[in-house]
Amino acid sequence: MNTTDRSEIYDVVVVGGGAAGLSAALVLGRARQRALVVDAGEPRNAPSPHMQGYLTRDGMSPAEFLALGREEIDRYGVELVRDRVSDVTRDGDFTVALGAGGAVRARRLIVATGLKDELPDVPGVAERFGKDVLHCPFCHGWEVRDEPFGVLAASAMSVHQALMVSQWSKDVTLFLHRVAEAELTDQDLRRLAAAGVGVVPGEVAGLLVEDDRLAGVRLADGTTHARSVLFTAPRPLPQTGLLERLGAEMNETPFGAYPVVDPTGLTTVPGVWAAGNAIGFAEQVVHAASGGYRAASAIVGDLLMSRLDAAVDG
Ligand SMILES: Cc1cc2nc3c(=O)[nH]c(=O)nc-3n(C[C@H](O)[C@H](O)[C@H](O)COP(=O)(O)OP(=O)(O)OC[C@H]3O[C@@H](n4cnc5c(N)ncnc54)[C@H](O)[C@@H]3O)c2cc1C
Repeated sequence: MNTTDRSEIYDVVVVGGGAAGLSAALVLGRARQRALVVDAGEPRNAPSPHMQGYLTRDGMSPAEFLALGREEIDRYGVELVRDRVSDVTRDGDFTVALGAGGAVRARRLIVATGLKDELPDVPGVAERFGKDVLHCPFCHGWEVRDEPFGVLAASAMSVHQALMVSQWSKDVTLFLHRVAEAELTDQDLRRLAAAGVGVVPGEVAGLLVEDDRLAGVRLADGTTHARSVLFTAPRPLPQTGLLERLGAEMNETPFGAYPVVDPTGLTTVPGVWAAGNAIGFAEQVVHAASGGYRAASAIVGDLLMSRLDAAVDG
């Protein structure tokens, strides 16, 4: 980790050191920018022992992936500090307040703060999240293929999740939990039947766990259903408070409010870019890394043109 004098202005401060932030940092370092990553160290996929679907890194642990990323940015002189940015103010440049005290200054900002997953309030779900309570079949479906799946409905949109996971197992049961059967449309019912997905009404009261493995789902009426995998859809809570405080225009979606960005991740606040899950709930690791790259390369050009224009204008 580089530790230089932080009183001088940075070209770029990157808030968040997950895939998006570290990828941006790598590009910035290699483009000879003075950059600092401030990372609170709570990446979204930390509960999962393995990360899938990232070409050449399929199956690597998320912790190892990020440790390698930190090594790579260090080679190019990018600094990284383990801290939480508590506030940012803009006065042409940016003043970035650190949770541990003090502040740093930056010409440009990348917000790569990710999102948090709010899990359904069912005992056992949080404890098993990332192990056998899963949210994303693209991330983990292959590893659990053909096992008996349950889907814990979070809303009527969970029908879509139950249909999707039937691509990975033909033994799928949708537990409606607090969703009323009447909320399912005729098309939902036709598709569920065509996919062979069983539908079980009634509130889920807890999980059955044996030898540290999911064994089943227990309903409030006491009935149990043997299942070794439970999919559910957490409510995404985008970590976009800094962007909102900077006045970025936000776009309300059924999956949270995300900043309005151009194709490089530039928000509506001049000088502020965003990447990764901070711009959308469906950004996987590979997208987050790509978004960080795009933002960083756009900033390199932006800073250069600003300097050249300032030189021309005298
Ligand atoms: C259980 C689980 C398993 C997953 N498995 C896969 C998988 O197999 N493959 C895949 O492609 N995707 C997977 N994902 C999705 C993956 O987690 C995200 O795509 C990825 O983490 C997005 O990267 P990011 O950099 O945007 O955010 P993150 O990785 O969440 O990183 C954001 C970082 O910013 C920090 N931060 C937040 N606020 C601040 C602040 N104010 N100051 C400083 N730092 C801050 C956080 O602490 C964190 O370290 C999984 C997700 C979950 C929940």
